Amino acid sequence: MSDARAEDTARADGTDHAAAGRRAARTDHAAAGRRPDGTDRADRAGTGTGRTVLTHCPYCALQCGTELTSAGDRVTVAPAVLAGTGKRGGLCQKGWTAPEVLTTADRLRTPLVRGADGRLAPATWDAALDLVAGRLTELRDAHGPDAVGVFGGGGLTNEKAYLLGKFARVALGTSRIDYNGRFCMSSAAAAGNAAFGVDRGLPFPVTDLDGADVVLLAGANPAETMPPLVRHLDRAGALVVVDPRRTATAERAALHLRPAPGTDLALALGLLQLTVVDGHLDRAYVEERTGGFEETWRRALAWTPERTERTTGVPVAAQREAVRLLAGARRAYVLTGRGAEQHSKGTDTVSAFINLALALGLPGREGSGYGCLTGQGNGQGGRELGQKSDQLPGYRLITDPAARAHVAGVWGVDPERLPGPGPSAYELLDSLGTEHGPRALLVFGSNPVVSAPHAGHVTERLAALDLLVVADFVPSETARLADVVLPVTQWAEEEGTLTSLEGRVLRRRGLLDPPPGVRSDLEVLRGLAVRLGEPAERWPDRPGEVFDELRRATAGGRADYSGVSYERLDAGEVLHWPCPAPGHPGTPRLFLDSFGHPDGRARFVPVEHRDAAEQPGESFDLYGTTGRVLAHYQSGAQTRRVERLAEAVPEAYVEIHPDTARRAGVVEGGLARVVSARGAVVARVRTVESLRTDTVFLPFHFPGEGRANLLTSGALDPRSGMPEFKVSAVRVEPVDEEEQTTGTGDGT
Ligand code: SF4
Repeated sequence: MSDARAEDTARADGTDHAAAGRRAARTDHAAAGRRPDGTDRADRAGTGTGRTVLTHCPYCALQCGTELTSAGDRVTVAPAVLAGTGKRGGLCQKGWTAPEVLTTADRLRTPLVRGADGRLAPATWDAALDLVAGRLTELRDAHGPDAVGVFGGGGLTNEKAYLLGKFARVALGTSRIDYNGRFCMSSAAAAGNAAFGVDRGLPFPVTDLDGADVVLLAGANPAETMPPLVRHLDRAGALVVVDPRRTATAERAALHLRPAPGTDLALALGLLQLTVVDGHLDRAYVEERTGGFEETWRRALAWTPERTERTTGVPVAAQREAVRLLAGARRAYVLTGRGAEQHSKGTDTVSAFINLALALGLPGREGSGYGCLTGQGNGQGGRELGQKSDQLPGYRLITDPAARAHVAGVWGVDPERLPGPGPSAYELLDSLGTEHGPRALLVFGSNPVVSAPHAGHVTERLAALDLLVVADFVPSETARLADVVLPVTQWAEEEGTLTSLEGRVLRRRGLLDPPPGVRSDLEVLRGLAVRLGEPAERWPDRPGEVFDELRRATAGGRADYSGVSYERLDAGEVLHWPCPAPGHPGTPRLFLDSFGHPDGRARFVPVEHRDAAEQPGESFDLYGTTGRVLAHYQSGAQTRRVERLAEAVPEAYVEIHPDTARRAGVVEGGLARVVSARGAVVARVRTVESLRTDTVFLPFHFPGEGRANLLTSGALDPRSGMPEFKVSAVRVEPVDEEEQTTGTGDGT
């Protein structure tokens, strides 16, 4: 067992037992290493040597608290417990090793501009920004503002996400802005808004899960994606897991339901049918707190347990047991993750699970509820502060005249100047370089060459642009394609806020000065805006100033941050949005009195099952499904640069049942080619006895010919724009001997 693997095992509950004796977790996240916001380089003490700050892990939406200490050239990390909650104090191996990314050998430290020889070469900041602004102006003058697109990221701080949205709408005037969070939580967001009138991943604190009798997890594998969460789930009475794969989370479950890929919606309809037929409907709750049950029930009625079993493969007895467990619990939760959401019917699937939760009377009751396990570090804040093509800050709709007037007022522009809604993330990428699509794209905090669906096609579209600009701190696969690369700060070098999956606003605190030559994203946006003719005073570039403007922009919106301040957060206050006034305590639990719709009621949403856009057939006989593994995060641009993580999972692999492997002529440890109608991936074979014989699984963190997204399609959910990452029709082939020796592509 490798060291990294041993660490995974030791920390399966999110804590590091071995390290516990070496590093005491701090208990007051506000008390030590605190600096007031707005610090800039001049404010920081020396080079940052010998300092400690309390901040958060740079990766997933759990945003575990970390204590960072610099000593000489080294930065060390230890878990920190969040103030006011007494929770966490554990990190997964990604969090423990995050400081390595700060000193990665290929850190970007100077702007790069592609020359006439086709190579990227160092340039000054002035030269790079002048060039970008000049080209953007030319393209905009020649083709209109929508000739320029912006692609953001779910890992950007709230301040960056906010300023990026403002930059697109005001400095560029383009409607072409979206972000990779669209690939993460958009189906759950659309379903949550439809049901509750508000989308907040968890409308309750994570710690509430500790007291649950039963938690149903549909398509989520937190034992790998956010291990410290498992500690809360382990305190719950029973776990029911819905997943085609026997994941590390399913291993811990009292009951594991294994529907065929793409059939979770049918399963949820069947569970609702059983809930009602077996007499578990909470009629009083449904009458008092909801609407739309009758129509929803008419649709679910046909989903008898037998029909559900035929469609999903989940035995009737297991369906009935799941309903019995949920209905018999005093405190129960239904949670969804990407497995249920990343489908061309992902919104309807989440709606079906919310319908089940409503029928059982769970949402809006303390100790029970529905929630979505948002994935990316700031997936929540990123979507409510203006990067999404249809939203303005505060979770306001860009089509709402009152919302436009409010935000335009804060920005000091005429509301008429704000563009309307643009296409969703994949539609934006698909249109690049086409007759009606953008001719230039600015990418911040995203690596779509690896993480976007139909990645081969997306790479071609990026290559067809007149100008591709990428702001990043490492030369990601997308940065390597760029015409201009702008080196920006990363987590431990910057101040700001992120919003966790539970809607809690958290402070990111800087420990180190950025390396010479590196600027913050906020400085980059300001530099470009001014060169595009914007007045400098409209473009703050200090995080605290941006946050203060953001507060005003969100005031009165669904996600109201106006009562949150750096001072309150730094004083240790625990603040979940909405927090509409400086003295307001925030809202850790939503919906206890009423839901977000004008009548205060939640809505059942009638849905019907339909097949995935692509089903296995003669040429492609297997379901191909994709996901994450413990050692890596998203496109892997950061975690593939961490030695221990790269050693733990160094290359692309495909999980396949031994019988299926035999039939395909591939062997454990050898290489296989996985082929879909769109492309082929070469991956190391891992035979997994517990996998369905009709399904193969590939993690999507790897570049080159190991990119799992070479297989996935551009089929989208019509309501959320979510791509169908979870179902592709594929076949598996052996690769010849020569290829066997060349490996699975660039693993760095
Ligand atoms: Fe915590 Fe997520 Fe970071 Fe792991 S990746 S330490 S679960 S925030």
